[in-house]
Amino acid sequence: MVLVDRFGRPVTNLRISLTNECNLNCFYCHREGQTLSFQEMKPEEIERIVRIASQLGIKKVKLTGGEPTIRKDIVEIVRRIRPYVEDLSMTTNGTTMKLLGGSLKEAGLDRVNISLDTLDRKKYKSITGFDVLPQVLEGIEKAVKLFYPVKLNMVVMKGLNDGEIWDMINYAAQKNAILQLIEIEVPREMEDSWFFKKYFYSLKPLEEKFEEIVVDVKERRMHRRKKYFIPTDYGIAEVEVVRSMHNTIFCANCTRIRLTSTGHLKTCLLRRDDLVDILTPIRNNASDEELIEIFKKAILMREPYWK
Ligand code: SAM
Repeated sequence: MVLVDRFGRPVTNLRISLTNECNLNCFYCHREGQTLSFQEMKPEEIERIVRIASQLGIKKVKLTGGEPTIRKDIVEIVRRIRPYVEDLSMTTNGTTMKLLGGSLKEAGLDRVNISLDTLDRKKYKSITGFDVLPQVLEGIEKAVKLFYPVKLNMVVMKGLNDGEIWDMINYAAQKNAILQLIEIEVPREMEDSWFFKKYFYSLKPLEEKFEEIVVDVKERRMHRRKKYFIPTDYGIAEVEVVRSMHNTIFCANCTRIRLTSTGHLKTCLLRRDDLVDILTPIRNNASDEELIEIFKKAILMREPYWK
């Protein structure tokens, strides 16, 4: 059984924010579209929501935040939800990967995305506020030994790290990791902001360049994102391009629902009017049937942001 929304989109993925807190402070961070952080879900509450989601055909779960690994109970959370999920992944800034990677793997995590916008230590500090690039690179070394695939998330920003794209492609190929090049994403009302105007870097021209040099191109089901296979001195690099702004194809092929760290289902990162409280009913002893209805209500609220 898979639930389908009013626009014919099956919902198969759940992106769970475990906390809105982070040990870094990236200046561009959208915090997964979450503004509230007055409470956090307990491991058994997260497990229950994932179990209900799996009954509705949602079998792919990504853990995010904030920084998911700063939760003291992160290994317990992974262990609890593992049995209900076919693909369990996490996006992390990598600062704790050296320390926690082994335990996360043992608890059942399948794969990780590690955020890495630059290989330049000073730039890394200016983006994140912390001088921890060496620690993150060690985390990546550890991750590629434990998980496959490891994806490196690079948010490309004009004048800041756009000159490093080819270095990052080579680095990813060297580490046998997949590089995800990501355009800055903001809601409509922020498109006029100084921040967006200054840093937005369109990846469309780069995709056109990739088309000329690739040995292969594939398309992912989710968002119909393109994946390019690019020859480098270190072998073939896999590079995914995430272009969401004003991208109707991206939204038409979105199969994801979100859960905020405060326990609200959320239909889209960019919407501000789409929270459905599932944690309060859980804390008020709602039955599984009632929780299923809450999921269905949230899925009915889904609509493409760019259309
Ligand atoms: N702390 C974790 C991390 O660093 O991966 C998880 C949370 S972070 C919000 C998840 C991903 O969103 C990161 O790869 C980050 O680079 C990306 N991201 C944050 N703000 C963004 C924005 N405005 N546009 C596009 N991607 C963004």
